[in-house]
Amino acid sequence: MPCPKIEGCPLYPELKLELSLKIWRTHYCDTDEDYRRCARYKLSQSGEMPHPRLMPNGDFLGESKK
Ligand code: SF4
Repeated sequence: MPCPKIEGCPLYPELKLELSLKIWRTHYCDTDEDYRRCARYKLSQSGEMPHPRLMPNGDFLGESKK
């Protein structure tokens, strides 16, 4: 079963529309268990509202690594 947060996740539609972001769905959202490693999922499980641009790996969408 994929991530139970898909319905309300503001990032998921972007991950779905943007081909270059598909890898995140493959490795987190659409997996049976690995969504539990997602930074967004973990924050929301602890009762915190994740930043809208927070990526599953803890980076922020649009921020380039130096
Ligand atoms: S980004 Fe994280 S919280 Fe959102 S749907 Fe994917 S795995 Fe779930």
